[in-house]
Amino acid sequence: MSKLDPKQIVSSLREGGTVAEKLSSYEPRQAQLDLLELIIQGFNEDALVMAEAGTGVGKSFAYLLPAMYFALNDEKQDVKQKSTTKPVVISTATITLQQQLFEKDIPLVASGMEKGKIKSVIMKGRGNYLCQRRFNDTLQEPPLFDFDYDELKQISQWAKTTKTGGKGELSFKPSETVWTSICSESDLCLGIHCPYKAVCFIFALRKEANNAHIIVVNHHLLFADLAARYQGAGYENAVILPPFDRLIIDEAHTIESAATSFFSSDFSRSGIFRQLGRLYRTSGSRRSHHGLLVKLNAMLPSSEDPLDAMIEAIKKIRSSAEELDEQALKLCDEERIFRLSPADDSHCDETFLKKELFPHFKALRRNILSLTNMVRDITENLSDEKIIDPAVWEIKSIVRRLENTAEICDVFCKYRKHEDEVLWIEKYSVSKDISSQRSMAIFTKAPLDLAPKLRESVFLPNKSVVCVSATLAINDDFSYWANRCGITGLEKRTLLSGCFPSPFPYSSAVLLIGPTDSPMPDEEGYEEFINEAVCRLAATAGGSALVLFTSYQSLNSAYNAAKSELEALGIRCLKQGDDDRTRLLQSFLSDETSCLFATDSFWEGVDAPGDTLRLVIICRLPFRSPNDPILEARREAVKKYGGSPFMELSLPQAAMKFKQGFGRLMRRSADRGVVAVLDSRLFKKAYGRLFLHSLPETKTSFCAFDNILQDIENFLY
Ligand code: SF4
Repeated sequence: MSKLDPKQIVSSLREGGTVAEKLSSYEPRQAQLDLLELIIQGFNEDALVMAEAGTGVGKSFAYLLPAMYFALNDEKQDVKQKSTTKPVVISTATITLQQQLFEKDIPLVASGMEKGKIKSVIMKGRGNYLCQRRFNDTLQEPPLFDFDYDELKQISQWAKTTKTGGKGELSFKPSETVWTSICSESDLCLGIHCPYKAVCFIFALRKEANNAHIIVVNHHLLFADLAARYQGAGYENAVILPPFDRLIIDEAHTIESAATSFFSSDFSRSGIFRQLGRLYRTSGSRRSHHGLLVKLNAMLPSSEDPLDAMIEAIKKIRSSAEELDEQALKLCDEERIFRLSPADDSHCDETFLKKELFPHFKALRRNILSLTNMVRDITENLSDEKIIDPAVWEIKSIVRRLENTAEICDVFCKYRKHEDEVLWIEKYSVSKDISSQRSMAIFTKAPLDLAPKLRESVFLPNKSVVCVSATLAINDDFSYWANRCGITGLEKRTLLSGCFPSPFPYSSAVLLIGPTDSPMPDEEGYEEFINEAVCRLAATAGGSALVLFTSYQSLNSAYNAAKSELEALGIRCLKQGDDDRTRLLQSFLSDETSCLFATDSFWEGVDAPGDTLRLVIICRLPFRSPNDPILEARREAVKKYGGSPFMELSLPQAAMKFKQGFGRLMRRSADRGVVAVLDSRLFKKAYGRLFLHSLPETKTSFCAFDNILQDIENFLY
């Protein structure tokens, strides 16, 4: 591998440089150049790089330049003089950033590079692409549930012209039922046996990726590829992605939770019913038979007719799934979530588990295996020609899914032996009305500790991994994140790190306020204080506010308290849950004085520059709910090894999220506004300093609430 030339690359981003000249509003940023140098060093020294880059540093250019130069340098000619290259893979958490990199940043940087032509490709999860085979099957056979045929018609028109088959290209958002019947799914894909492979979007995409210098993916797709490689597919062949050994992870603060979700699995009564419905169903007054097992039965000699036996087995699975659901819901009555904890079983009624719950898990497992064994026996004895029939392929994948459910049942029954997994049951309201009686249970298993998995599958196999985010360190210290992600302990690898401060003028453009006379969150009167304070703060700022909560309950309470008063002042109030996230954000951005009440996912990813956002209110320090089963299990694990769950988990997690919330205010260097923190633990608890020190220097006003309002007026007007 030839080394990157730091001088050449850095000069392209300096004033007058080839890339800098392409930028319409170029401003020299020392932090960006420093970050760029660190990343070049990471490539040249085969290192693991951890970099925190504040808002406005321009981190994407700082990693795109080395990535592109590297991919071009590394390009080789194969025996047929065709160029072959190992791509550099860039992974992001959000589709928004994926899209921005692919559509804006990569073409811009590429246009300013002096050498070679960059080929880049964006790859989303399979579920984002139309599967030609499933789509055509759906057109031919009436689906099971209520189906929107108008949507299908529109998709039909689009399918004739689309080049990528990507869902994002549709002019409308298809319903879940329609899209999940026609999208690509790995375990339903016939691969080289597929009659549609010549027109398959996934095949075309992978072919394009094989020749690309840069591949932009999301974390989920990255983990799917790396997990398959780690489990035996190896590192030299194409799996989901072509072989690669240089990786850049942007929005890296999310990789632990992305990996947790990737390695988790769950099942529910309705999910099982959906699979069973694909296998067998009846319709019409004459109860005519449909489904994949009917097709399978028709492939067999007339002397064999296992359909009745399979229908009987399906009935048994249905009734055992219903019985399990009913018993499990009894455990979730009060808290909605019931965790089976091997470490702390004080809340587990062992007698109930043994007598009332586990027998139903066992019955469900037994009934599933009875059907799947029956089906396997049949499919394994089919002729070669029939075995590649799409219906048989699909049956096999449903069998695997049902067996996965049987395996989760087994893990639940042996929960004491599964200390490395978090197991819980959650009550889920089938109707939108949370108080509705219509509920079902979701059974989930998730990995307790991701560090070994991430170390083995992400950091060890790749020559260089660059992790970047606006929040990766706490007080310039990366140890919390490095521990959680398995980087700690990789002494044999070169480890580089650095914090690159935002160039924005926080010290003059941001006023950080905190009332010192507010009640503590666990004191009487706290909720009333929040409700009144939110309303008065938003009124003083004239709206343009994002109000961040840690629970829906307090969000609703403050929204209801403030709505009519603020709307009388001409300030429109928007609330998370009233519309989907994208539309809600669009409404917020399009109405400059509106006020958005939100929780959880809105603490990050909200990009509202200018006067649209002049006030961010953080109602409470964002400690995660103690009822979160994964956090609870991880806290227990820390305690077991003699650590402090609060200091080692809850506090750093909350501090990182706090920084994300604060970061919503300034999105451009000319932005100006106020961040209000209404949680007096910031001043009254020793750990409050950690939150304050993790922020850039700003103007501050920490005094009685009434005086604060005056300070805001003076600052904003
Ligand atoms: S190869 Fe797979 S994804 Fe492509 S059309 Fe066939 S089944 Fe669908």
